Amino acid sequence: MTTPPFDPASTKDIATVSAQLGRPARNVLGIAARCVCGAPTVVATAPRLDDNTPFPTLYYLSHPAATAAMSGLEATQVMPVLQDLLATDDEIRSQYQAAHEQYIANRESIAVVDEIAGISAGGMPVRVKCLHALAAHALAAGPGVNPIGDLALAKSDWSPLICQCMEYSV
Ligand SMILES: [Zn+2]
Repeated sequence: MTTPPFDPASTKDIATVSAQLGRPARNVLGIAARCVCGAPTVVATAPRLDDNTPFPTLYYLSHPAATAAMSGLEATQVMPVLQDLLATDDEIRSQYQAAHEQYIANRESIAVVDEIAGISAGGMPVRVKCLHALAAHALAAGPGVNPIGDLALAKSDWSPLICQCMEYSV
């Protein structure tokens, strides 16, 4: 797990992320989390891409098995359950708000981009919209920072501690 400043990604890391995404990885700042085998799990992307597009998603889940697991969870009834939890549990709600603020602080430590001011990812701070983004934040920040991301990881059948990597043909 890593939050800024990131070590630069290696050429191999960037090639692996590109293979994971199925397209060239753009504006990679570093690798924010890795599989137990060392393959990237979460890629950190610049807040503004080279083509000038603002990019709010600092932490992007790139690992195919992890993204599949989150898509699988989103297809169950877990989203409304997590949304309800946010509505009824004061502690989780305040942790989620803090996670939102930390996410933006992490990103703004790299660059402040006016178009995405106040915007984090995944529906934070009051909605549960994208488990991929929330799990990516939880993996980068470590346990205890993003409560919904932590719960999504706990409910999923994927773990960073068990390698389910494919051959990335890097
Ligand atoms: Zn692996």
